[in-house]
Amino acid sequence: MTTPQSPLTPGPSGSLFVVAAPSGAGKSTLVNALLEQESGIRLSISFTTRPPRPGEQHGREYFFIPVEEFIARRNAGEFLESAEVHGNYYGTSRVQIADQMQAGTDVLLEIDWQGAQQVRKQFPGAVGIFILPPSIAALEERLRKRGQDDQQVITRRLLAAGGEMAHAPEFDYVIINQEFATALSELVAIVKATRCRFAQQSSRNAALFALLGIHANPT
Ligand code: 5GP
Repeated sequence: MTTPQSPLTPGPSGSLFVVAAPSGAGKSTLVNALLEQESGIRLSISFTTRPPRPGEQHGREYFFIPVEEFIARRNAGEFLESAEVHGNYYGTSRVQIADQMQAGTDVLLEIDWQGAQQVRKQFPGAVGIFILPPSIAALEERLRKRGQDDQQVITRRLLAAGGEMAHAPEFDYVIINQEFATALSELVAIVKATRCRFAQQSSRNAALFALLGIHANPT
């Protein structure tokens, strides 16, 4: 759902990463490991109407809010993107992202393909990363092992996985999460490579670039 507000302008140097995957591909574990390893990158905490799973905390995994509050916030244009996923609403806070990016922090969004499409329209420079499972069987096994959802929820998520994966071609990078360490090193490599882009380097090191006489878009 797009909002009536004008899009954000990216901060001076913060990059935006959008990571999507079907449920059970191991996305959260990979992202959490990336965040532990790399400084200067923060995960956006989404709002959701889904009830918390055991162990989840308000303000840590998500801001858990009632449907009425979600709709009111969405109507007020508070969300950069929002979508209905597996029967619940999810949304990314516009202010949270703006504050972090404008402070030069890289921001990572763990969102679904619908949200990714909305973000891409507002931030064409956002880096899209899609995480795939090595097989359907692995996907199902991970969903069951998680043991946090009932059978009905697992079945619904498995059915949705095919629909989610059909959108993988819309992303810049694909990681196949067969071996965790390899998948993590690929994710870290994407973040590091993005930080070496001309735009990011020249923005972070403006004084050095000026000293060296390097200017953007020489003609
Ligand atoms: P879960 O309920 O398992 O945490 O997440 C279910 C799905 O919702 C995942 O695909 C997750 O990436 C997606 N999701 C989580 N937060 C957001 C959000 O803010 N916006 C959108 N569009 N999807 C989200």
